[in-house]
Amino acid sequence: MLPSLTAALTAIVGPHGVLTPDDDLARYQESPNNLSGIAALVVRPASVDEVRRVLTTCRSHGAHIVPQGANTGLVGAGLPDGSGTQVILSTERMRRTFDLDVDSRTLTVSAGWLLSDINQRLAEWGLRLPIEVGSDPSVGGMVSTNIAGSNVIRYGDARRRTLGVQAVLADPDTTVLDLLRPLRKQNEGLDLTQLFIGTGGTFGIVTAASFELAYEPSSRATAWIAIPDGSTLPGVLRSFERRCGEWLTAFELVSRSAIALLADNYAGLLKRLPATDGDCVLVEVGTSWGGAEDVLVAVLEELDEQGLIGDTVVGTPDELWEVRHVIPTITERMSPVLSFDVATPRGKLNEFRRTVVERIAVRHPDLVPVELGHYGDGGLHLILPLTPAAATPDARAALVRLVYDTAVLEFDGTFSAEHGVGPKNADTYLRLTPPAARALTDRIREAMDPAGLLGWR
Ligand SMILES: Cc1cc2nc3c(=O)[nH]c(=O)nc-3n(C[C@H](O)[C@H](O)[C@H](O)COP(=O)(O)OP(=O)(O)OC[C@H]3O[C@@H](n4cnc5c(N)ncnc54)[C@H](O)[C@@H]3O)c2cc1C
Repeated sequence: MLPSLTAALTAIVGPHGVLTPDDDLARYQESPNNLSGIAALVVRPASVDEVRRVLTTCRSHGAHIVPQGANTGLVGAGLPDGSGTQVILSTERMRRTFDLDVDSRTLTVSAGWLLSDINQRLAEWGLRLPIEVGSDPSVGGMVSTNIAGSNVIRYGDARRRTLGVQAVLADPDTTVLDLLRPLRKQNEGLDLTQLFIGTGGTFGIVTAASFELAYEPSSRATAWIAIPDGSTLPGVLRSFERRCGEWLTAFELVSRSAIALLADNYAGLLKRLPATDGDCVLVEVGTSWGGAEDVLVAVLEELDEQGLIGDTVVGTPDELWEVRHVIPTITERMSPVLSFDVATPRGKLNEFRRTVVERIAVRHPDLVPVELGHYGDGGLHLILPLTPAAATPDARAALVRLVYDTAVLEFDGTFSAEHGVGPKNADTYLRLTPPAARALTDRIREAMDPAGLLGWR
């Protein structure tokens, strides 16, 4: 199949559009968190018409397709399996459309644009696509994973920002579904755009999206706040929300164990944190009229008077955020490790944290969990650097079950707060997603892609 498929795809996208195993495919086959697969080919169409023809050709050759954007996903859903038979359809050359409508405050943009390039271009208008993450994802990937990040408390996730998509289906007609009208109000029945948000490339290839943009705040103020007593966290968050309203841009938790990781290689960064042996939160306030720091400091003084917080450091936003962004670069290099991306209703997050950490300690007293929370959204990245006893296959499986079951079955939470579903958590999807929801998902998928041509397996 391979030589004839390569030739047929090359005829569609040109020689630069196809990469074979003779090329270096590492950046398409390996994820940032060390998941990997083996591709038969990487095909890189540059237009909607090329995407359609690629799908038709792959179908006729019996080749399965995995859509891929910037390959920053963390559940392996943009990677081929290990068979060496699947084709990666990379959208990286799809950058033809960049339609900014300043009056509507919307942007319609091809799937291959990267978040950093978009925001660089929008800066001259004072606008941005307000997704704040430590990676540089593509438009198609952000939509398909329903990306979230650190500013969800103010701007929402990709679902909140996406007004419409254009997608190519893997049905026999390779239907192009154009839902790109950048309307804020549209109430014409089923919102088909939602089918492509957070479904990880299993329902169609997203070729473009329309987003609602936001103005960059003219004034930002950021503080690290020590939280000596974790039980005060909900009250601290409530105070910020009551006092700041929509100016509250981020409320991120970093556990004491996460801060301790800085001591080895990033000790210099510890100066940017308050001295504490407890957890910290990173809070950002952004206003459009200046004075963000005055607002932030006023709330901090109030919280201090109430005895709800410890020391604080108010500083340059980029410098304080650097501390937060460095920690995942340390945890990503850990091995062996288990990492979880869970969420509970916000009001239950404290109790969930206490419960799950206690239960882990009962089984593995030497294991020190690291917590990074998008606390304002009820999200928690729980990272478990495994001790030898915890690293055996049985112990790992038991820990996975413990964390997910506690989150989902006891705390009304989710096993995937923001990274989506893929090979990494597929077993848990099968185990914890209600059968009726799975069955309906399968039926919709079958209607859109009857031959099962698309998406991770
Ligand atoms: C350091 C780091 C920090 C991160 N922080 C966050 C965070 O705070 N919040 C968060 O939510 N995520 C975070 N992520 C995860 C990741 O950046 C997001 O999941 C991102 O949206 C993936 O986009 P991508 O373009 O890299 O997609 P890929 O990784 O290429 O693909 C991801 C999924 O989308 C599908 N897909 C991609 N493009 C298309 C398309 N055009 N049509 C159909 N399907 C498509 C793929 O098949 C796959 O299922 C982080 C990752 C890293 C490495």
